[in-house]
Amino acid sequence: MLLSTKFVEPIERTLDSTFKFRCHKNISCFNKCCRLTNILLTPYDILRMKKRLGISSGEFLEKFTYTHIDEKSSHPYAVLKMMDDEGKCPFVTPEGCSIYEDRPAICRYYPVGQGLMVKQSEKGIVNEGFYFFIKEPNCLGFQEDKEWTIETWRIDQGVDLYDEMNSEWKEIQLRRDNPGQPKLDEKKQSLMYMASYDIDKFRRFVSESKFLDILDIDKEEVEKIKTDEIAMMKFGFKYLKYILILEETLKVKEEYRKQTKDVRNP
Ligand code: SF4
Ligand code: SF4
Repeated sequence: MLLSTKFVEPIERTLDSTFKFRCHKNISCFNKCCRLTNILLTPYDILRMKKRLGISSGEFLEKFTYTHIDEKSSHPYAVLKMMDDEGKCPFVTPEGCSIYEDRPAICRYYPVGQGLMVKQSEKGIVNEGFYFFIKEPNCLGFQEDKEWTIETWRIDQGVDLYDEMNSEWKEIQLRRDNPGQPKLDEKKQSLMYMASYDIDKFRRFVSESKFLDILDIDKEEVEKIKTDEIAMMKFGFKYLKYILILEETLKVKEEYRKQTKDVRNP
């Protein structure tokens, strides 16, 4: 699954676009795509994989990822670390993907790639998705006879749920890509990385400090984020919008405004 732009078809596709593809154990290229590839991870990918492996987000990130800082936006991204001399994915086995049910969104989409654009509409800022095919010569799946639309492929691969979970986070990346957005300093980069990927650390940061006392948050929401990982992940997106000054998603209580450091720069 080498996500090099070299094999990306330069044609924008829609959900109705059709293609023929099948990937199965008896195909001679089986597993060949699970090496020497750049798999950029999303918050929901990490949540699923760390749960599957029964480890903390911090352990997962340390063992299986490296950090890539995007030159243009200065955003930190977690990328799956390929292992051993052959550069194999840590989860590939002779029988296939050992975390198949919890594999990342990029692996689910393949051989389809997904792009997003931010557009201004009557309803405000909206995300508009587009798709493209990745046609690597080593991937023989395109020679098979099963026909899909991109929509049926997304549903079959269970990536529709991943898109729903990650959409707010992706929108943050896109909005920050707009001209005029300042580059992040190291402190902001590390807060962004924590709120995006290291959910267990973010939970400690939120619940073991005065964070929740300082903010004017609904009691029900506080209870939810304490017990529900998805709610915590989504609270992380709210926090990101706030610290990146994209939206006033959080409100510091009146009585704390003069006494405490701003939540934006803890
Ligand atoms: S996570 Fe699974 S599907 Fe994705 S590259 Fe690794 S082994 Fe392949
Ligand atoms: S058909 Fe393509 S996706 Fe499937 S194993 Fe072969 S290279 Fe990988």
